[in-house]
Amino acid sequence: MQRPFTTASSRWAALQSRDPRASDAFIYSVITTKIYCRPTCPSRLARRANIIFHQDATEAKAAGFRACKRCLPGLSSTDYAAEENKAKLVVEKVADLLGKELSGGMAAKKWTVRMLATEVGLTESYFCRLFKKEVGCTVGEFRAKLASLQQELEREEAKEKRNLMPISCTKAIPETFEAPTEQCAIGTNETYLDMTDIHWNTAFRTADEFNFDSIHPDNYLDPSGYNVFVFPEPIEEDGFQFLDLSSFVETS
Ligand SMILES: [Zn+2]
Repeated sequence: MQRPFTTASSRWAALQSRDPRASDAFIYSVITTKIYCRPTCPSRLARRANIIFHQDATEAKAAGFRACKRCLPGLSSTDYAAEENKAKLVVEKVADLLGKELSGGMAAKKWTVRMLATEVGLTESYFCRLFKKEVGCTVGEFRAKLASLQQELEREEAKEKRNLMPISCTKAIPETFEAPTEQCAIGTNETYLDMTDIHWNTAFRTADEFNFDSIHPDNYLDPSGYNVFVFPEPIEEDGFQFLDLSSFVETS
């Protein structure tokens, strides 16, 4: 049986299908760009008329061609796979470190590009190139994207929190109001009423019910544990006003 990928036509067929079995079998060069590639290079395939074949990378190099930066034709396909895998691991690690920095507040370690490169064991310039090739943007741009995602998440969480009322407030619920089911806030033993789907206008704590005895300021401690004399300004949302007392403690 003839060895595969020895004829020009079988090689051209391998390029067109990016046949993985041909990955280490030969090298091709594009005469217009002066670049040589492995047969499975993900770059757009050049026209047949502009392509010539070589036995290996050494031969292509000797003919004056430069190695493609995408398919790294000097490496065996096993090394190439290892290289690809390394890039993925580096990106995962960086995403993890920057994620911790962004969610950790003031106390969190602040990472510079140089520190990140050292952490993953690469030179700064190689790290930057590898990162950009894998992710498609610079480390700085990536951090900015992460930060805006993080802010969005925090806004959502804050919104959710405000809609959770301590269970001790149940006695302030008017008779007409159907109490939602008790829930346990994630990561705590405290029970809450999930008010997310209850409209404030039909629930308690609206500005109109300000004088309702059981929600008088005297019966509350503020978040720092002091007696409340005046409730905070009502918050306006969806055209309705309500008092956000979720961080206050009812005393009677
Ligand atoms: Zn290539």
